[in-house]
Amino acid sequence: MINTQTAPVKTERKISPEFVRISAASAIALRLQSGRFSRDFDFGGINLLLNYENGCLSDCSYCGLARTRPGAYEEKSFIRVEWPLVETDRLIGRMKTHEDKLTRLCISMVTHGSAYRDTLEITKKLTSTLRTPLSILVAPPTLNTEKLQQFKDNGVDMIGVGLDAITEETFRQHRTNVPNGSLRWDNYWNIINESRRIFGPWKVNIHTVVGLGETDKDLIDMFVYLKEHQILPYLFSFNPEPDSRMAFSEKASITRWRRIQLVKHLIEKYEFPADAVSYDDQGMIRKMEIRGQSIAKAIEDLDAGIPFMTNGCPSEGGEEAGCSRPYGSYRPSESFRDFPFQPEMDDMQLIRTELALQEII
Ligand code: SF4
Repeated sequence: MINTQTAPVKTERKISPEFVRISAASAIALRLQSGRFSRDFDFGGINLLLNYENGCLSDCSYCGLARTRPGAYEEKSFIRVEWPLVETDRLIGRMKTHEDKLTRLCISMVTHGSAYRDTLEITKKLTSTLRTPLSILVAPPTLNTEKLQQFKDNGVDMIGVGLDAITEETFRQHRTNVPNGSLRWDNYWNIINESRRIFGPWKVNIHTVVGLGETDKDLIDMFVYLKEHQILPYLFSFNPEPDSRMAFSEKASITRWRRIQLVKHLIEKYEFPADAVSYDDQGMIRKMEIRGQSIAKAIEDLDAGIPFMTNGCPSEGGEEAGCSRPYGSYRPSESFRDFPFQPEMDDMQLIRTELALQEII
């Protein structure tokens, strides 16, 4: 006989691993929520987010999930979009039905005592049911080498690390410590280095945010460093979350953002030499020379809008981003900061104006 006094209540509380949140774009793509994208494009990247009653124990100043941001965790937005809650098994069943359309799966951890255990459990379910490559956007305070190895042994394809603030100074400024004291710059780099060792070249990515107080030089130096270490940088534009500590901070100007997108692409694809960029006293781009290898090809890419497309983990065997995170860096009502599809002719006209390349070349 079931003792109702002690019957499990975890499912009723709708927390992970039985429940997860998924991005609104994923919910629309899987027909779990009605809605449309503002333009038609194929979307097969499914982003899962762990869900707990007490949420994420980190308290980053720019993040919608921050511990001290007002509101219940379940109602908080993350990268400014809603994340509906779904039953994990139902979600996996739905993904199986739509598997031919899926390009990349990702579990976003949060800083929580159960996050590693629950992520591993969800990982096992996903990798035993679906062929789509799986990334984990990890929470370094919850991990160590053995746990990363467990992810690898259970079929995880790539590791993402949300470093976000790319200098030690901005990291300390924006990423307040969690109660157990492990949200530290050196701990993040330890997890990045161990992930790189365990998962191999181009299987680790770092989320980098433009607009947290870093200079252009800081960003460009970081892109060069990561390329040397065969780690991928993915670019995000800081986007103020209402009620967060940075709710009233300005995002990077569109011109700065476009130039950073362009230089990052040139470094990544064309051995663009870092000394081709010179900086003003504030460390912001003053001039750049387009030189180095394959200039003609780089200009072709620019004309096609490739540098302005969303960076994300690739689809299986593909070069193209399998995770294109629509609205990760801007509101649905705003123009695209990064494009989850190839920009069209009208988009390119606007991008060229925003870039104002003639001012720096
Ligand atoms: S790019 Fe997408 S799939 Fe890759 S780690 Fe980031 S959120 Fe996950």
